[in-house]
Amino acid sequence: MNIHASVPGTGMEKSYGAFINGEFLSAGSSTFPAVNPATGQHLSDIARCGATEIDLAVKAAQAAFKSWSKTTYEQRSQLLYKLADAVEADLPRLAMIDAVDIGRTLFETTLDHRFAIGQYRFFAASIISFEDFGKPIPGGYFIARRQPIGVCGQIIPWNVPAIMAAFKLAPALAAGNTVVLKPDENASLSTLELCKHIARIFPPGVVNVVPGVGEEAGAALTAHPGVAKLAFTGSSEVGRIVSTAGAQRLVPVSLELGGKSPNIVFPDVDNLDAVVDNAAFAGTYCNGQSCLAGTRLFVHDDIYNAFMDKLTAGFARVKIGSPVEEGTKLSCLISKAQGEKVLNYIEIGRGEGANLVTGGARASIPGNEYGYFIQPTVFEAKNSMRIAQEEIFGPVISVIRWKDYETMIEEANDVRYGLASGIYTSNLGNAMKTAERLEAGSVWINQYFNLVDGTPFGGYKESGIGREYCRDTLNLYSHLKSITMAYDLPPQ
Ligand code: NAD
Repeated sequence: MNIHASVPGTGMEKSYGAFINGEFLSAGSSTFPAVNPATGQHLSDIARCGATEIDLAVKAAQAAFKSWSKTTYEQRSQLLYKLADAVEADLPRLAMIDAVDIGRTLFETTLDHRFAIGQYRFFAASIISFEDFGKPIPGGYFIARRQPIGVCGQIIPWNVPAIMAAFKLAPALAAGNTVVLKPDENASLSTLELCKHIARIFPPGVVNVVPGVGEEAGAALTAHPGVAKLAFTGSSEVGRIVSTAGAQRLVPVSLELGGKSPNIVFPDVDNLDAVVDNAAFAGTYCNGQSCLAGTRLFVHDDIYNAFMDKLTAGFARVKIGSPVEEGTKLSCLISKAQGEKVLNYIEIGRGEGANLVTGGARASIPGNEYGYFIQPTVFEAKNSMRIAQEEIFGPVISVIRWKDYETMIEEANDVRYGLASGIYTSNLGNAMKTAERLEAGSVWINQYFNLVDGTPFGGYKESGIGREYCRDTLNLYSHLKSITMAYDLPPQ
């Protein structure tokens, strides 16, 4: 491979082919570019794989499954610990690659890789105690035996590529499966770089990474008869397509999809400044390109004016700029298309009568006309408006003023998604009553985005099927076989 000098110190290649059977193929003639969304700088060329490479990868994964599925829990655990250590030792480089590839701040991409390391270690630890169970029965014994499923086809999005790769690889490998993973066409670099570590640590064919666009490599992966399980993270729209492909072949499908999460502020909060900071963070972390973003902010009438003053003053101080510059809090969106989509939603908000409180336009960054840097934007909105119902995936918050508790709960749940939610109150009763009633896979009380290894992660409603990030995820990647044994052959 040819080391490319575009971003010094990153060791990035001029081009990347698919990683199949422990080796990188050559990129070939059909490629797509990796481009820095902040500057337009060309970073690398990536193979635009299709059905041929998917077929090669699935066959390599099927061959590797024969021995990998028979490894012990301890052996797999050790390799996952090794991968975690390798990523940790390489963290600054990988975080820089993600920062220039996806336009998120180095602070955030560093955190992404820390989460990924946590996931590899969590599943390295969890698999050791992933026990079969059994009990005596009259005249014999029964065992419920967990077994790996086979080749897992995994498809991930661009917003947090390191976390997404780890969410998919760690449980699948721990449970004894082999993998063909397709990264997103907007964010393939760090996953391909991860393969350099995987090549040194795992037997060939256990992990295969095939880059490409969704309708080609992605569709070929979901349709391949050798894939025994599908796992997808991305939009609810594509989730439906992947789910349909899985249904056609009757293979299990787990889905992590979109969100439009309510973040609820009660009037009794102790520290309004801290709550405002949290709410701003919940709406704009990842430049708002997070499935978990708390973008429907329900603020109680009693504290509404004070809250809004602090929120707008806070956003006025936010440093928007280059993802690799110290102190940047908000950077650019992933692409022109995403930037235009967000600006269009801002127009939709204006058009449907929402009151624009702050932001609402591209931020001007001296010397940079390329990147889509969008000002943190706050609307006073109604829950029924499109800007409060649809996933915008940019730094746009819809604030909904509330007074009556029952109406607020009804509106908080009145959305097609159900991924996350937040509650701020000093009253434990309020917090728990409300947590019980929210239709969301995660509820955070007096905080947001607090992801801790082992806490279940996944969606209600159109936000997904299945739970990742926790021990239960091992069940998504295992068959449960019952073996029932009689001690003596019964007389006929
Ligand atoms: P997307 O659905 O457009 O793409 C996701 C992946 O699917 C990409 O790898 C893409 O190439 C692939 N794909 C596209 N069409 C396909 C097809 N026909 N067949 C197979 N694969 C196909 O999503 P995105 O824009 O990359 O990511 C943003 C979305 O992901 C948001 O909706 C966000 O909420 C969601 N997301 C969810 C989670 C979660 O854990 N719930 C995490 C991150 C992102």
